[in-house]
Amino acid sequence: MNVKQTMVGLVPYQPGKPIEDVKRELGLDEVVKLASNENPYGFSPEVKKVLQDSLENLAIYPDGYARELREGVAKHLGVKEKQLIFGNGSDEVILLLCRSLLTEKDNIVTATPTFSQYSHNAVIEGAKIHEVPLVDGVHDLEAMLEAIDEHTKIVFVCNPNNPSGTYVGEEEFLSFLKKVPDNVLVVSDEAYFEYVAAEDYPVTIPLLKDYSNLMILRTFSKAYGLASLRVGYGVGNEQFIQALDPGRGPFNTNTIGQIAAFEALSDQQFITECYEKNRVEMERFEAFCEKKGYKYYPSQANFILIDLQRPGGEVFQKLLEKGFITRNGEALGFPTCIRITLGTKEQNERIIDVLSNLS
Ligand code: PMP
Repeated sequence: MNVKQTMVGLVPYQPGKPIEDVKRELGLDEVVKLASNENPYGFSPEVKKVLQDSLENLAIYPDGYARELREGVAKHLGVKEKQLIFGNGSDEVILLLCRSLLTEKDNIVTATPTFSQYSHNAVIEGAKIHEVPLVDGVHDLEAMLEAIDEHTKIVFVCNPNNPSGTYVGEEEFLSFLKKVPDNVLVVSDEAYFEYVAAEDYPVTIPLLKDYSNLMILRTFSKAYGLASLRVGYGVGNEQFIQALDPGRGPFNTNTIGQIAAFEALSDQQFITECYEKNRVEMERFEAFCEKKGYKYYPSQANFILIDLQRPGGEVFQKLLEKGFITRNGEALGFPTCIRITLGTKEQNERIIDVLSNLS
């Protein structure tokens, strides 16, 4: 039995190494994972209270339409319920977009390096990838515009960008959006939206009224701290979203995830606290880099890409041996860098201490 030719040789997504694997392989008792941009403070304590209720209905299929969560998110964003599509993580929404829009005649435009799942899913559909290099870690929207041709179906703007943490500002994004042809979908992937501090970060939701070719991706996996429950969503033009809907799995988000996400949304105090702690911790890393003379990419997310001017794999391994799972920049398109998810104050102080004493 053969899989599609486009899948031959593709490697599965390589997530951060699981904690248990590292403990076993290196015989360590304590391992901290700062590799996949999860929330080190967990999730809202309000969520814990409703989890017990969500266990009552495990024998029953979830509500495939995620009605209650849909109402909550629509109200939170000020959009219509029919403008939303939920996925098993925003990963699934990316997959669904590629599956629904792309054929082997088409292409997508992305930055490089950026989140790998855009090109991964496009390649499976047989589409071509027009990759536009970041300029000093930042999207080059002018060049991305030039990379659009008559076969382009989707342009992915990862904002803030994973793995650099850098962002595209409002003015630049708007002027780009105005110039993108109507028949090309612009995806603004805002997975790290809740962490953004920059005042000129684009306010994209109101733009949906004027741009039927805009789609915004958000997730409950990052600041909301629910990565393991797999709930993400897309917001876009109502007709477009309705057209996408038949392509998703009938029960693609589960009952526990829906209930937890709904509750998490109503505790914005928790999100504000996490945002504030993240900014303090980001300053800690920035101060460290400045003291050591290491280049870093100014980040609006909950991770930082640091250029240690030596092979990322070497630093990754040293940190691993000290019980810290990070991301090797060599696998992310930044060969002399390491990407670190910001942890708690105590975790960050410890990893900075290890980095300060690298042999
Ligand atoms: N987009 C970006 C930019 C990400 O970094 C991630 C997670 N690594 C995702 C989407 C997918 O997140 P999830 O599927 O957990 O919602």
